[in-house]
Amino acid sequence: MSIEINGVIKRFGSFVALNSIDLRIPTGELVALLGPSGGGKTTLLRIIAGMETADAGHVSFAGEVATHLHARERNVGFVFQHYALFRHMSVFENVAFGLRVKPRDERPSPAEIHRRVMDLLSLVQLDWLAGRYPSQLSGGQRQRIALARALAVKPKVLLLDEPFGALDAKVRKELRRWLRHLHDEMHISSVFVTHDQEEALEVADRVVVMNRGHIEQIGTPDEVYSNPVSPFVYQFLGDVNVFHSRLHGAWADVSREAVKADDPPPDDRGQALAFVRPHDINIESAPITGGIEATVQDIHAIGPLVRVELAHESELVEVELTHERAKALHLEKGQRVWLKPRHVKVFNVPAEALEEGGSGI
Ligand code: ATP
Repeated sequence: MSIEINGVIKRFGSFVALNSIDLRIPTGELVALLGPSGGGKTTLLRIIAGMETADAGHVSFAGEVATHLHARERNVGFVFQHYALFRHMSVFENVAFGLRVKPRDERPSPAEIHRRVMDLLSLVQLDWLAGRYPSQLSGGQRQRIALARALAVKPKVLLLDEPFGALDAKVRKELRRWLRHLHDEMHISSVFVTHDQEEALEVADRVVVMNRGHIEQIGTPDEVYSNPVSPFVYQFLGDVNVFHSRLHGAWADVSREAVKADDPPPDDRGQALAFVRPHDINIESAPITGGIEATVQDIHAIGPLVRVELAHESELVEVELTHERAKALHLEKGQRVWLKPRHVKVFNVPAEALEEGGSGI
């Protein structure tokens, strides 16, 4: 079932939590609402679910405006971060709950309920836990049961609010892949809220980047990562180095050296900010043309990569190298090196705009 959000505004007192949101989610799509805390993701999800009412605008399902529909009538499954399982009910009864409370004329027979619950439990690969109680399950298992419970009533739309937020990194990773399979198998439309960019980029068909109650960008994971439309999106989607520079056409001056911008902005003269991801910078141990001089401050081996912190004038620059490259360079603290950015994204923005939001520089 497609979901359409048109001109949705939500205020809490004088605070605008959602500022005219427009979004179309075609049937079968898995969409991530990604953004920093307080950006309005949960509020939007709750409005789609019918748990919150918009002050203006509307939500439609399959082309029908749903404003008058109660949450129960929307055919929506909901999964929260904190496993809201009924503690006094077995796993089986938790999953069966939505079916047992249906009006008599819609309620499946006990045999049908049994069949459907066991099918769902095997879908989430936990049929062997049917008789257990929530307190006897791991966090990951509880979340899979919460998903099975949400799916029991055959929703057309699945809404997930930080479903894996409370779990450790390894379980999170496993569950998000598994959510992707489940979504594809069930032929539903899913919207999930996350503030974890890796999770959004890995799982979603499209990512909706939200900040301060508005949508910054909508696109496939590759589009938002490779072609961010604003400094905010660029910074939110990964670590980044920011250099103050001046633009001259396709070239940005960074500390007296000219570096080529990937995609110069429309206004290609004057003050600008040049963004470079840590893995998009080469380090050379001898001077090179256009190389930016810097001093090695620290070297950390982090899993498959080596992260090098460098001082360039008064700024900190982070570079990520393979172990092979780091070994070949014989890097040491205090060493003078030359940096050559490979991909540089330049925005014409005032420096103040970068003060807020986004991950580290
Ligand atoms: P998080 O990732 O922290 O959950 P979020 O992007 O989901 O953040 P929301 O929960 O949608 O953000 O909140 C958006 C803004 O609206 C926040 O500033 C929040 O304080 C405010 N807000 C949400 N619900 C209410 C409420 N019931 N009353 C007043 N303000 C609220």
